[in-house]
Amino acid sequence: MAACPALAYAKDPESGIVSLDADRCIGCRYCSWACPYDAPRFDQERGVMTKCTFCSHRQAEGLRPACVEQCPTGALGFGDLASLPGVEDGVGLPTLAPGPSIRFVPGRPRPPELAAPPQAAPMAAEPAPRKITLRSEWPLLGFTLLAAWLASAQASLASGRPAFPPTLFALLAVASLVLSSLHLGQKLRAWRAILNVRRSWLSREIVLYSAFVGLALLHQVLLPNATRLAAPAAAVGFAALFAIDRVYDVVRGSRRLHSADVLGTGILLAGLWIGHLPSVAALGALKLYLYLTRKIEDGFKRPQWAVLRLGAGFVLPVAMYFLDPERWRLWALAGTAVGELVDRCEFYAGLRVLTPRGEMSFSSAPKPAAA
Ligand code: SF4
Ligand code: SF4
Repeated sequence: MAACPALAYAKDPESGIVSLDADRCIGCRYCSWACPYDAPRFDQERGVMTKCTFCSHRQAEGLRPACVEQCPTGALGFGDLASLPGVEDGVGLPTLAPGPSIRFVPGRPRPPELAAPPQAAPMAAEPAPRKITLRSEWPLLGFTLLAAWLASAQASLASGRPAFPPTLFALLAVASLVLSSLHLGQKLRAWRAILNVRRSWLSREIVLYSAFVGLALLHQVLLPNATRLAAPAAAVGFAALFAIDRVYDVVRGSRRLHSADVLGTGILLAGLWIGHLPSVAALGALKLYLYLTRKIEDGFKRPQWAVLRLGAGFVLPVAMYFLDPERWRLWALAGTAVGELVDRCEFYAGLRVLTPRGEMSFSSAPKPAAA
């Protein structure tokens, strides 16, 4: 409910039931990233989220939920949580806030007089399908990288060094807006995405990025002589990059900082455009540290990506600084473009949505044999 940018969720103050109004949903799927219990499910055909209603219409008439009523084995119960029998801790069910409102009744132990059941062959744990993949998120990959390039170009312009001609800037800005809307299930309702600025980082990202594009185009295309607009537009652009990074907080795991965070990318690129060596060296060193510590932690999975990221993003700029100082900035920008693209691909490939099924398949994975 807090994550939804379109205010499509509501909570009944009396019963506590969280309900979803599909007519308000823009199909951004962000709520399914934020919910650790996999409650919202995306309806591909309608392009909106769906969710259990807890049969609020039946409860209003004093009836029990239909699934409880219909279950032929009586496996489901319903009532005030505190009065329900059982234990809170289900196998693999994430115990994050707000906490699962469910009790599990453990199976009864087998009476000793009964013969032991035949041993079944251990089942291989089927991996849970991933909710975020590089293939599914490529429009957001393109949007976030373009946002970093455009904010850095605006900062460069504010310092008196235009990075892109205004026409190219405008084309890239339009392309970034199109990319950002491609993953929405309901594109015509995209305007609703700004409604939850108070609580949703996605709403804040959209408001800030739209303001950045509007201000930058106003300055570059319509009022090129209004130079006092350049710096505020760049500042709003960097605020938008900060908001973009916060959108991924719910799926980035324990890492608060990532070498591919777009705010860092934007500042690094701005330093390169402007030719401010101290900021380039500081951001480059921070990114290298974050990248190497992550790679060491994950045992250098995908070594070919690491070679490309390190070679293009770090080795090439440093080498060309000494070998071709005249054109060093161009080499560094080209190398950074490749390095940041690879790192951002790895960022999306590494995002994980917490789900009960994912946790259960993890906890039911075959254990290593005892020594
Ligand atoms: S607008 Fe997005 S976050 Fe809100 S219900 Fe729809 S898919 Fe979920
Ligand atoms: S039948 Fe059960 S699962 Fe379906 S909406 Fe009602 S409470 Fe939710």
